[in-house]
Formats: sequence, structure tokens, C-alpha cells
Amino acid sequence: MTPFTPPTADQLLAIRVNAGIDELAQTERFAHAESDLVEAIVAGVGQFAAGEFAPLNRKGDLEGAKLENGVVRLPDGFGAAYRAYVEQGWNAIASPAAHGGQGLPFTLACNVLENLGAANMAFTLLPMLSVGAIEALEHHGSPAQQAMYLPNLVSGKWSGTMNLTEPAAGSDVGALRSTAEPVESGEHAGKYRITGQKIYITWGEHDLAENIIHLVLARLPGAPEGSRGISLFVVPKYHVNADGSLGPKNDLRCVSLEHKLGINASPTCVMSYGDNGECIGELVGAPNKGLAAMFTMMNNARINVGNQGAQIAERATQQALAYARDRVQSARAGSPDKSPVAIIEHPDVRRMILRMKALTEGVRALLYYCAGQVDRGNLGEEAAKTRSEILVPLLKAWGTDVGVEVSGLGIQIHGGMGFVEETGAAQHWRDSRIAPIYEGTNGIQAADLVTRKLGLDGGEAVVALFESIAREAADEYALAALAMDCASVARWMRDDASLDDRLAGSVPFCTMAAVCVAGWQLMKQREAVAAGAAPELAATKPVTVRFFLDRIVPEAAGLKAGAVAGADLLYALPAEALVG
Ligand SMILES: Cc1cc2nc3c(=O)[nH]c(=O)nc-3n(C[C@H](O)[C@H](O)[C@H](O)COP(=O)(O)OP(=O)(O)OC[C@H]3O[C@@H](n4cnc5c(N)ncnc54)[C@H](O)[C@@H]3O)c2cc1C
Repeated sequence: MTPFTPPTADQLLAIRVNAGIDELAQTERFAHAESDLVEAIVAGVGQFAAGEFAPLNRKGDLEGAKLENGVVRLPDGFGAAYRAYVEQGWNAIASPAAHGGQGLPFTLACNVLENLGAANMAFTLLPMLSVGAIEALEHHGSPAQQAMYLPNLVSGKWSGTMNLTEPAAGSDVGALRSTAEPVESGEHAGKYRITGQKIYITWGEHDLAENIIHLVLARLPGAPEGSRGISLFVVPKYHVNADGSLGPKNDLRCVSLEHKLGINASPTCVMSYGDNGECIGELVGAPNKGLAAMFTMMNNARINVGNQGAQIAERATQQALAYARDRVQSARAGSPDKSPVAIIEHPDVRRMILRMKALTEGVRALLYYCAGQVDRGNLGEEAAKTRSEILVPLLKAWGTDVGVEVSGLGIQIHGGMGFVEETGAAQHWRDSRIAPIYEGTNGIQAADLVTRKLGLDGGEAVVALFESIAREAADEYALAALAMDCASVARWMRDDASLDDRLAGSVPFCTMAAVCVAGWQLMKQREAVAAGAAPELAATKPVTVRFFLDRIVPEAAGLKAGAVAGADLLYALPAEALVG
């Protein structure tokens, strides 16, 4: 596997142009996000990721996480790298200063994860999941819970998990059956006894952090059926004493680890709560409002899964470029010089390389545009908040699809050497494959786009986005046409289509919409580079943007047929006929 070189210049361009960090730094809350500090963070975490996380990527894949006597162990080196990460303060970038964080924009926390995840995606799920737990407690925890848990979660001394999934409750979270019984007396009076099994819990057990703070969804006695009867609980691995020291172990355990296609260094745990009836947790927020509380942080968690698309695409592209410059095969077709050349000289390999670069830069542009809108939303700008809500399913679904496509192209560029494991190209593809599945499958993201998101702002917000892109991109014919198509599909779905028809066209529409927004944001990058921003990208940016606008945008326009085709054909055959 090739080393990781952080794409600092492209990241800084996206952070400036698409997230608009300089504008954010003009607000009181983010005044300290000045240019020098932003550059220091982006370059610093890039170097850290390359030096500490990247060398463990291959080892993590080969050796994986192991469950030994109830404890999950990681290969040598992971503990030291995690300690260095905590000591250098990378975990605390965007958390509020009141809990020991640096209070910087979410945009910069995304950059920390982008660099770490490109270096080592499986490892980076550990800090990524902690972000979710921090946000849930920050928004819904009581002052006492915040004081007890947040400082150590923010520093990274403790880690966090999210426990939604159960054997019968995957996409349908409302079907979960774990229970929480009030404790009436004794030292835990006022708390709850949690019982149930959760599956697929990322970093549910490990020994890198001193304590693990599980956020668990469960049902109170007599709670309504379905998603209206779910409550959120904080359940520490070790009880925490009033003075902050650790008490005895709680009644919870990792029963087993899943054997997976990829991200082998990320322990995916089957967790059992309350085998002995003594698993104690505290209610977070109001009874029966747990799903709403989880959704507050799921938005940002989905952004960070979309971010994984950019991460793995970047890493796979770097690996493929190195190979394509090295591997010599055949003379260039039509050349008088018959000596063999590096494969990067052949037109089809060039096509793949440029596609990989253009797609990666497109997802990055969309990522930071979305992150910047989240930051503006946090500053109280309602329109930005709405915009970010529209962008989340686009980024999560298309970004992760791109991760799979680009890492697949990476294998293709390696030829047979991509299919055998030695080069590491196959690992990127294997690792990439989870991202379209977890944190709400991409099908669920697309459904969210054509239902809840389409209704935002009285049904105007989605249409208005594409109408404004069509106006701004008037000089880019293909992009303007795609934007108009997106607006017309959105109008049809909003005004005329049945729910079945909308859902049947949701995935093609989601891809069209994402490519459209990414193309628009890349156009802005190209303008900024032409005006002198990022001189190191002056040669490459116009080419990758042209490739995106001329080749990827028209492909997305071709998806309109599927977006408006409706559901009739999908149900022309009964399920038995499809099987038989
Ligand atoms: C490696 C890994 C790590 C994970 N980490 C965590 C974690 O930390 N915490 C946690 O709680 N969970 C975690 N998960 C669970 C993950 O979020 C779920 O796997 C995911 O939400 C899908 O649920 P499912 O696997 O039950 O698939 P299903 O819900 O059974 O879906 C199967 C297929 O049917 C489709 N489908 C289902 N319902 C609908 C519908 N209504 N409309 C259209 N299509 C539908 C889906 O899109 C999918 O294609 C993890 C999973 C994995 C594999």
C-alpha cells in the first residue's frame, strides 16, 4: 500500500470556497478560525494522519480487532496512535469550550476526520462515533450528565458509541425491543435497568479509551409501539463516581465480533446489556423522544459517512496514480516510438484517473459546502440550516457511492495486481463498501430526500436550490440543463407523483441532485483558482472541473428517465414471479 499524502491544497480550497471559512471567521462565535489557524490545523492533522494513522491501515486490515476474554484488542500501535491523537487535541476541535473543546467550526472537525479517515478508515470510526455521542449529550443531556461525561468524551480519554440496531430493527429502528425499567430504590434510584441485545455496534468494546459511553435506544414500560415509544439512555461501561473517578464495571458485554468484508480494524460488536439484570443507565432527554434526540446528531453523523466517500476515494486515487506511473505495458497506440510506456499514458487509463480525481474533488466540494451550511445553521441562519438538511442525503448517498466507484476503478487500474491483496488496492474497495449501508442505507437517504426534505419550507426549498443553480450556471450548458431537470423532477414529485412513484425514482433523483450541486460547487472552485486562489492547483483544477462538467454531469442528466418512470413497472410482477 502506498503512503498517504494529505491533499492539503485541495482541502484548503474547499474549506475557503465551498464552506466559506473566512466569512465564518467574521462572526463572533468563530472569530478565532482565522486563516493562519485554519492552515495550521489542516496541514497539521494531515501530517499527523500520514505519520500515525496511515502506517497502521494495512496492519489493521490483516490482523483486525480480536475478542479475547471479553476484551477487544487492536493490533500493536493502535493504542499509542490513539493516545497521541488525544494528547494533540484533535478530538476536541469543534466541541464547545465549556466542555473543554476548542469551539471551532464543524467544517474543521470534518477536515480532521477527512485526513484521519483517508489514512485509516477503520480506525477513524472510533473518534467519529464519539462525535455522535458528544452531540447527543450536548443537545439533550442534563447539566449533570454533561458535566459527568462531556469533558472526557471531548478530550477523547473516553469514547462513545451509538446503539440503535437490533436483529429485528435495522432500517426500521422503531421495531427495537430493548427495555428500560425504572430503578425505584437503592444506590441507582431514579436510573434505569437496561436489558437487550444490540448488533453491529461500532467500537462497542475496546481497550484504547479508559471508559466507553454507550448511547442506547430502549423502550420504557408501557411505551407506545413503533418509533414514538423509544427513549435514549446513557450507559457507561464503567460507572462514574460523583468525583469523576471510575467505579465498578456495568452489566454489559461484547458477546462477539462480526467477521466482515472490510474495516477489519473497527470492532463491530454484538453487545448484550443486562445479562444479570444490573445494567444501569440514565435517561437522556424526555421519555419517548429518543429517536428525535438521535436524529439531532444523525444529521452530522451522515455528513461524516459521506465524508468517508471522499476519504476512501482520495486514498484509492493516490494508490492508483502511483501504480499507473510505475507499471509499464505496451507502446502508446499510434506512436512511432514502439517502446512500452507507463500505463498512465494510455487513453483509457487516463480516463479512469481523471474520473477518479474529478469525482473525489466533487465529493470534497459537496462535503465542505454542506459543512459550511451546518456551521451557518448553528449560528442561527435558518435558510442555511434548511439547505444543509437537503444536502445531507445527497452527500451521504452519492459521496459513499463515489467511494465505492473510485476504489473499484483503483482496482481496475491495477489490473490483476488489484485483485490480489498485496497492493492494498483491494482493501480500499472492501473498506469503502460499508459506507452506502450504515447510518441509514443509501436507499433510506434517497427516500428521506423525496419525502421529508422535499417538503421543507412549504415544498419550496429543494426546487429553489436547483433553480438558483440553473441561473448561476447559465454559461455551463450541461450543468444548467441538469439543474433545470432536477427542478422539474422535484416539482413533479412534489405536486403530481404518488408516494410509490416518488420512492421508485428516489435513488436516481438523489444522484442527479448530488452531481448537480457538486458540479456547481466545483465551478466556484474553478473561478477562485482562476482568480489566484491555490496557485498549486492552477494547472489541475480547470481540467478536473472540465471533466466533471463535460462527462459526469451529462451522465447524471441521463438518470432523469429513471427518476420519473414511476413504480408501475416495478410491480408488474408479483414477488413470487421475480423469485421463480
Ligand atoms: C460494519 C457495520 C457497522 C455498523 N455500526 C452501527 C453502529 O455503530 N450502531 C448501530 O446502531 N448500527 C450500526 N450498524 C447497523 C446499520 O446502521 C444497519 O446495518 C443499516 O441501518 C441497515 O439495516 P439492516 O442491516 O438491518 O438492513 P435492512 O434494514 O434489512 O435493509 C436491507 C435492504 O432493504 C432496504 N430497505 C429496508 N427498508 C426499506 C424501506 N422502508 N424502503 C426502501 N428500502 C428499504 C435497505 O435499503 C437495504 O438495501 C452497522 C452496520 C454494519 C454492517
